[in-house]
Amino acid sequence: MHNQGCSEEEIFSFLSLKRAEDTSHDYILSSMCTVPHPIAVKAHDMFMETNLGDPGLFKGTADIEQALVQRLGTLFHGPDACGYATSGGTESNIQALRMAKACKKKHRPNVVLPESVHFSFRKACDMLGIDMHTVPLDAEYRMDAGAAEKAIDKDTCCIVGVAGTTEYGMIDPIRELGEMAGDHDLFFHVDAAFGGMVIPFLDHHKPFDFLVPEVSSLAVDPHKMGMSTIPAGCLLVREKEMLCALSIDTPYLSVKQEFTLGGTRPGGPVAGALAVLDYLGMEGMQAVVQGCMKNTWRLIDGMETFGFARVVTPDVNVATFNPPGKIPLPWRVSCTRKGHLRIVCMPHVHRDIIEKFLRDIGESNA
Ligand SMILES: *Cc1c(COP(=O)(O)O)cnc(C)c1O
Repeated sequence: MHNQGCSEEEIFSFLSLKRAEDTSHDYILSSMCTVPHPIAVKAHDMFMETNLGDPGLFKGTADIEQALVQRLGTLFHGPDACGYATSGGTESNIQALRMAKACKKKHRPNVVLPESVHFSFRKACDMLGIDMHTVPLDAEYRMDAGAAEKAIDKDTCCIVGVAGTTEYGMIDPIRELGEMAGDHDLFFHVDAAFGGMVIPFLDHHKPFDFLVPEVSSLAVDPHKMGMSTIPAGCLLVREKEMLCALSIDTPYLSVKQEFTLGGTRPGGPVAGALAVLDYLGMEGMQAVVQGCMKNTWRLIDGMETFGFARVVTPDVNVATFNPPGKIPLPWRVSCTRKGHLRIVCMPHVHRDIIEKFLRDIGESNA
């Protein structure tokens, strides 16, 4: 700490300097986050000092959170689903496994999940003392349902399917996994952190949500394709009792109990998330998502003409290529665990950005 405070000018010239060192979104092709929608920013600003951790003091903001849960639940064919706004997919997945562990009591609990699962499950399993039974993928990078069935044993409490994998953009066979969960009386969590704000807005897709009767809970991140401000995630559950299994007493707050993982929680991104959904509506979201899909196909086409073959045809706007090749700066792309080049066509990755990237790739690989 400085002994005496600095001037506002000093502070902000320092902050601007640092901010300029961040990569511009014009070159970020690797992220599942994006530039927030202006409506989200405006809504976020209004709720800057609200705290959802003490909902009795912020009744209006708490109503907005419930409206978001209701909106998303209905989108995912679970109009009566319950839930709350999390800090993102990581928290939603941790909480889902906590619920699974509490609801399906096992001696030495394990979870059956695909090789493609997000690394947040490693954190969750480490914290909760749950073993991971990792299931290989099929040729299309989806969880192999036959192998999943074999991985289930008497201590399995949960099965996880991913709807829109982080690395390859694939949707696991949710319906088959659901039947398996039903047969073995397992908790069934769907990680739709990325795909949840994409799949419902595609023209055709297989069921991945509460339409599958065995799905117990679902994670979705409005701060990804929902274009809200960060951090905005949401955990949805089919039955309120599942969340109640996580309740603890909260002696000094305006409410007596809470089931969230976070204590103090921001209202701003939650208002932002709801505002974007209501502002765009189904048609607006379809336009955004289908635009991203079009750009994904254009990117794949362009890359293939330069000899970068697609690894798989994705279900959502994540494209992967082999060989990974040389990507010139300042472009920021990423690499999957298997060493494939990975690009996410988020809303900020406009068509002209893709064309510019393809020109650069053509030149540097000529
Ligand atoms: C992004 C992502 C997560 C993690 O979400 P955070 O918001 O970074 O915590 C989890 N699962 C999937 C499938 C994701 O794409």
